Amino acid sequence: IKCIGILTSGGDAPGMNAAIRAVTRAAIYNGLQVKGIYRGYKGLITGEIAEFKSQNVSNIIQLGGTILKTARCKEFTTPEGRQTAYETMQREGIDALVIIGGDGSLTGARIFAQEHNVPCIGLPGTIDNDLYGTDTTIGYDTALNTILDAVDKIRDTATSHERLFFVEVMGRDAGFLALNGAIASGAEAAIIPEFSTEVDQLEEFIKNGFRKSKNSSIVIVAESELTGGAMHYAERVKNEYPEYDVRVTILGHLQRGGSPTAHDRILASRLGAAAIDALMEDQRNVMIGIENDEIVYVPFTKAIKNDKPIKKELVNVLRELSI
Ligand code: ATP
Repeated sequence: IKCIGILTSGGDAPGMNAAIRAVTRAAIYNGLQVKGIYRGYKGLITGEIAEFKSQNVSNIIQLGGTILKTARCKEFTTPEGRQTAYETMQREGIDALVIIGGDGSLTGARIFAQEHNVPCIGLPGTIDNDLYGTDTTIGYDTALNTILDAVDKIRDTATSHERLFFVEVMGRDAGFLALNGAIASGAEAAIIPEFSTEVDQLEEFIKNGFRKSKNSSIVIVAESELTGGAMHYAERVKNEYPEYDVRVTILGHLQRGGSPTAHDRILASRLGAAAIDALMEDQRNVMIGIENDEIVYVPFTKAIKNDKPIKKELVNVLRELSI
């Protein structure tokens, strides 16, 4: 391998820039040429590519978003689109790819790697933390801290008005942000897709979460279709308990932005450097993860397909501490 291409794909996440910097610098350190591919797989198809030197990644470790931009690319889901992407790689002299993204992006990488025999290394870049084989993903810690910041502020107004707030957070079908956000912000309950049915969760919340002894309550709801979202719960409580003053806040895209935390910067730096180590060791088609503070190589199929489990212990901690 003489030249690698690097791209960010799917939803953006704070820390992606730190990862781009780490991959670029580690590659150059190891004598490789680096090419930055803009707008994810789209840029690989259209040839929106520029050579990256060490200076191209100066002063970006602290920036949210991704300097390479990101996109969702329908064309890459077709064999014709991937063929064009492969031809671009050949034309540009790119021998291997480092893909920073979520499960969709790594699924694309897996298919592309198989189809065209291209070495691909994935880095888990998503605020959702829903990739199996890594304790956390790049961006998750920053998003969690953004949620805390927001919920602390909502708590002030909730307490002043003695209101019940449903706060909706991101996470797709994963409840990591909602559950850990609830524990860290001292919320009364979390409604997440992984545990119990919708009816059980609402009943449990009414029983345990919202008590007359408290002058405000905050329930964090994961955005998933499986939970129905915060609005859904607010409507139901309003109908069944008209005496409660219910409000909804949907945190939305602010969870995707901001300067990455120390945790995310260090994670991105370690994973980025390890991606180049993996390529130098002739590893291919693996995602780099960190488990118990050790770098691990996780085959794409394992990282994507497995449902990453949420610890029941966390659910219990929240329940016990919200009495
Ligand atoms: P996040 O979870 O943060 O939203 P993601 O990587 O899961 O990020 P997706 O939109 O699911 O985001 O995927 C990003 C891109 O990966 C898609 O736009 C597409 O180009 C490619 N991709 C996804 N699934 C496939 C697939 N089955 N085959 C080929 N390419 C795919």
